[in-house]
Amino acid sequence: MSNQVPAWQGPILDNHFHLNRNGRYLDAAHDFKRAGGTNIVLIHCPDFASPPTTKEGHRAAYQNTIAMAESVRTELDLHVRVVLGPHPAAFAHQFIEWVEEEGAKGKNRAIENYRDSIDEAVKFYHEGKAHAIGEVGRPHWEVSQEIWDLSNDLLCETMSLAANDGFALQLHVEGELESTYRDMAAMAEKSGLQKDRLIRHYSPPNVEAKITQGLTPSVLAGKGALATLLATAEQCSHGFMLETDYMDDLRRPGAVLGPKTVPKRTNQLLNAGIDEELLWRAHVDLPNELYGQE
Ligand SMILES: [Zn+2]
Repeated sequence: MSNQVPAWQGPILDNHFHLNRNGRYLDAAHDFKRAGGTNIVLIHCPDFASPPTTKEGHRAAYQNTIAMAESVRTELDLHVRVVLGPHPAAFAHQFIEWVEEEGAKGKNRAIENYRDSIDEAVKFYHEGKAHAIGEVGRPHWEVSQEIWDLSNDLLCETMSLAANDGFALQLHVEGELESTYRDMAAMAEKSGLQKDRLIRHYSPPNVEAKITQGLTPSVLAGKGALATLLATAEQCSHGFMLETDYMDDLRRPGAVLGPKTVPKRTNQLLNAGIDEELLWRAHVDLPNELYGQE
């Protein structure tokens, strides 16, 4: 007889992880690995101080993320998938700034820059260097009606592209529970995109199918998420994933979940008696379905 708590023996995937060469970078990925992590979904993070304004700029920024992923693979022997795209905050800020400077011309320039950033990301997807597009979405803070409408239009456009080209989208949206899922499900329908191909990053822990409306929730794995996740997990539609949204920003230590969190939560869920099948879905089957095999 042993009173040792069971430990998860399968793969462990963090579905939303950022790395920064000026942050802890490989050390952070190493922490994830030491805690039992095996798979990282590396999300491109723009330089918010000066996001790219040209095709070449987008391409170079994405190439840097792809190169970081390759270093994590070769130096730490971790599986890494790459998600590339324009962060919705970067677009909103550019739009405001350029409209202020150039009026209607600035507006068109911001729209074109968004489209360029998507196009360049999609090229890498077709080259097999990216596995999905994101994080795309709409501002999670109060913006003008014009920016709100435009963000929604461009998001719909990107969803149509996702439906045509076959990639999944990681969404960064505002934090409401039911209304956000409802809106996104309606937009998917309008765009002809299968709803489960929309992965809601930073998802609240309630994963009941009647709330998530067929989208794929990627639950932020904070300590406080456990109880609700356990209570609703068996009512989910086709599964959920777990993430930290690790930022790798030395100026904000402790502001976000650390790299060891998903492995830790996975074991806590297992010890709390979650259906193991759901953990296999979270760490293996869903990522394979949505991003392809790494
Ligand atoms: Zn993020």
